Parts: sequence; structure tokens; C-alpha cells
Amino acid sequence: MTTTAMRSRLTRAQLGGLACIAALLASAGAGATAPPPRESAAQRGARDCGGQSQNPQRACQEDLDRMMAALPEAAPAKPVRPRHVLVLADTQGFVHGSIPLAAATVEALGNKTKAWTTTITYDAKDINTENLKQYDAVFLDSTTGCFLDEPGNTAETNARRAALVAFVRGGKGLAGVHAATDSYSAPCPGSQAGRGGPGPVQEWPEFNTMIGGIFAAHPWQRVWVKIDDPVSPVTAAFKGQAFEMVDETYTMLPAVYSRENLRVLLSIDVSKMGPADLGRENRADHDYALSWIRREGQGRVFYSAHGHREAVYAMTPMLEHYLAGIQYALGDLKADDTPSAKAGAKK
Ligand SMILES: [Zn+2]
Repeated sequence: MTTTAMRSRLTRAQLGGLACIAALLASAGAGATAPPPRESAAQRGARDCGGQSQNPQRACQEDLDRMMAALPEAAPAKPVRPRHVLVLADTQGFVHGSIPLAAATVEALGNKTKAWTTTITYDAKDINTENLKQYDAVFLDSTTGCFLDEPGNTAETNARRAALVAFVRGGKGLAGVHAATDSYSAPCPGSQAGRGGPGPVQEWPEFNTMIGGIFAAHPWQRVWVKIDDPVSPVTAAFKGQAFEMVDETYTMLPAVYSRENLRVLLSIDVSKMGPADLGRENRADHDYALSWIRREGQGRVFYSAHGHREAVYAMTPMLEHYLAGIQYALGDLKADDTPSAKAGAKK
């Protein structure tokens, strides 16, 4: 069956899930870092830790140990006032194994550096106007599908969506990793919105624009990452040096993602790709941003496309990048967030 034929028979969410599983298996034998043990879906399900296990909210101890050992010593900025981050880790699509580890990472980063305190929830009901008053940023932990919605309850769904948008536009922060862009990327169950309009889906275009892109595919497991904004404090951990990354690497659909709309921090260096990898390109402009920041009203957004594999959370430079990105979203770390295209035009 061709990919096109498969696409016509499967929803994007289903395809994403299948591809994620395939990528996990493919990545098990490759990588600059030690590859994870090769496990079947059944083996993962039989474990007592990890997002695909019987205890999906419990991170595995060995992953926690590696993350804790890799934590940076200090935050790049002193908090203006005590900060509180809400990690939202619920999904309505593919469930990443790294979700509980990512949640624990945000909490540990804040605790160790005293940059913020953390509350972790797997309940989308917590995204409401009253509850959000106590937080300075929301962290989307590989949320997938229509993660905020209450199926069959349009009023509740609309209230949650409006609360999150108002929270950010009113001056707070939004941070997200990996599948935060594989959210509202396909029609929601029972939705009347469906497809149409200028974008691929019209489920919640405000969210797609706010997070900065819509997941298209993950054609690569090993990429060279270049530093698009080497003077940004959010990329300081990389010291301006390109690096090789082994992780499921997301690309964005042409709709929504634009350098006119956000400031790219990291992107794929296509010039270092061989013919096989070049054959997997899916954007005519060859522009594959991997992390970015942007303004949304009075608020701020930070997103990192990497964060699929547990090993990412054991890489100190990536943890420093997340720490700085969250501090930017909180409003504590000042960074030039002029959209890349506009910043380039000024020079
Ligand atoms: Zn993934």
C-alpha cells in the first residue's frame, strides 16, 4: 500500500501513532548516544513505568536518574517574583512514553534552580480561568489530538480553549515540547469543523498559530542542528556550535509555520544531509525549525520540536535550552523575539 493510499484510510492521528511506533523501533538500533533497549509495544505495556505502561504517569527510575544527573546548576535569569508552572500532560491521541519524564524534568528544573515551582496535571479540566490565575505559564507535555476538549460538551470545550488563549494573550507564558504541535492537527472526534479553509484543519486555528506550527511528519531520526539565533540567551547552552541530534524529528506543515510569525532558535542544517535524507524532505522551502519563541498578545510562547526520546532529557544542553525557554515564557528571561523574517529585513 502506498503512503498516499494509507493516508486516505487513516486519520493523521492514527498515522502519527503508527509512525511514532515505527520510528521508535527504527531508532532503537541507531543513535549517537547509547540506543534504548529494543522493546515491543507489548513489553512497554507490561512495564510499570513510562507513558505507555500500566502506570503511564510514572517515569522510570533509570530515566529520572539520568535526567537528575544532567540538570544544569543554575537558571539564566533570576525570577522577578515566585513563579508557578502548570504542566499539562493529557493526550487525546498518541501517548508518548516520555511524557511522565518530561513532566518530572520541568519540576526538577524549577526545583533545582529555584526558577519556579511546578504542578503536574493529566486533567484538561484544570485549564479554566479560575485555576489558571495561580500560574505564570502552562507547559504542554507532548499533548496530542484535541487535548483540551470535552467530547460532547461544546460549552466546556470552548471555555477551556478560551481560558488558555486569554491566559497567554493576557501576559502569561506557554511552553511546549514535541507533540504540542501534533495537537489540533487533525479533525476532532465528532467535530463539525473538519477540513477546509486555508489550513489543513480548522479545528482550532488560534491554537495552531499560538504554538507556531502544525506537525506534518517525522522523516528523520538523526539530524544536524544549526543555531539560527546564536546571540539569544535561550540558545546559550549550545555556544553557537551546530550539533548532531538523535531523536524523532518533527517537521511542520506549510500552513501556519512561518518565520514571519516567530523567531527561530534552532533548525535542521539541510546542507549536511545525504541523498537518502534529502529524499525525505517534505517542505519546498527546506525550512525545518526545531525550536522557536514568539509573542502572543502580551504573552510569550516557547516550543521545542525535539523531546520524543527519554534520552533527550538526559542531555544537559537540551535541559538548559528548556530551562531558558520556560524562563522566557515566564517573562523572566529577556530575549529578542522579533520574528526571524522581520529581524532579517532590518539588517
Ligand atoms: Zn514522537
